[in-house]
Amino acid sequence: MSAKQYIEQLVGVFGHPVAENPTVVLQQAAFHALELPWRYLTIEVYPEDLPSAMAGLKAFNMRGINLTIPHKQQVLDFLDELSPAAQLIGAVNTVINRDGILVGENTDGKGFIRSLTEDAKADVSGKHILILGAGGAARAIAVELALAGAGKITIINRSADRGTDLCRLISDKVKIPAHFIQWEGTAAVPEDADIIVNATSIGLPPDDDLIPDIDFTGIDSSKIVCDVIPAPSTPFLRKAGSRGAYTLDGMGMLVYQGAIGFTLWTGKEAPIEVMHQALLKEFESQDQQDS
Ligand code: NDP
Repeated sequence: MSAKQYIEQLVGVFGHPVAENPTVVLQQAAFHALELPWRYLTIEVYPEDLPSAMAGLKAFNMRGINLTIPHKQQVLDFLDELSPAAQLIGAVNTVINRDGILVGENTDGKGFIRSLTEDAKADVSGKHILILGAGGAARAIAVELALAGAGKITIINRSADRGTDLCRLISDKVKIPAHFIQWEGTAAVPEDADIIVNATSIGLPPDDDLIPDIDFTGIDSSKIVCDVIPAPSTPFLRKAGSRGAYTLDGMGMLVYQGAIGFTLWTGKEAPIEVMHQALLKEFESQDQQDS
């Protein structure tokens, strides 16, 4: 009889602040469902400690790590290889440790597209996509949409430098037409936009009653309106829904980006429904605690 094995395969997330990051819930549910002896750790890492944390990752033979604010760009200094998309985006949210070789990937935009195609049944090819925001999430989404064959991308952002930089990346590197509009006052929605994505942090708790300032009269039933805020609904989506648009929340993006990471780490297909239900349950229990 062979001796019992107590060792667990370790993955997790480095971030600051990270205490409210819910990824542990969906990854742990997936490990449990597939009876894998893996553990996901939520680890507070201050910006100045990232070099030691990455050395620790290797020392502990961790199988990989997620990165969240503020480490997604700084982590590039510690990686051996980058996926083509992560290289274009210039940020990594998932690291895979392949026998000591650290490979960086960005699953945010891929997760968004999977939610758009599988949950909203949308086809992005040739579509005009309006993205509100030009931060990390917007960058990942815009690059992946462009790589997936979007016809045209319009970026509306408050700060011009981030917005123009992202448009230049899309048009110069992925060769998809990209157009920047500076956000001043109420932003008009281009009539021919097919898909509209709120990729700003407007609406993120505790300011979850805030709504991106766009002209909702430009929204109708011909458009799909998406929000990256990871919540079952947002005031932005409710307002767009009341105009007849199909709406897509950010829960699917969160689940799918985690599912892609799960497969990259374990080599196994992720139990999407288990992960989705675990996340929904977590949000419901938080709502009950708050009320
Ligand atoms: P960043 O800080 O990199 O970018 C924030 C963006 O929001 C910028 O474009 C910023 O504009 C804009 N913004 C913030 N406040 C305002 C405001 N008051 N008016 C106008 N624009 C504003 O953040 P991330 O891109 O990393 O995250 C953005 C959102 O994406 C967050 O809500 C995060 O939770 C969500 N997210 C969701 C994921 C999911 O799986 N569902 C995964 C990753 C992120 P400016 O450039 O002018 O500052």
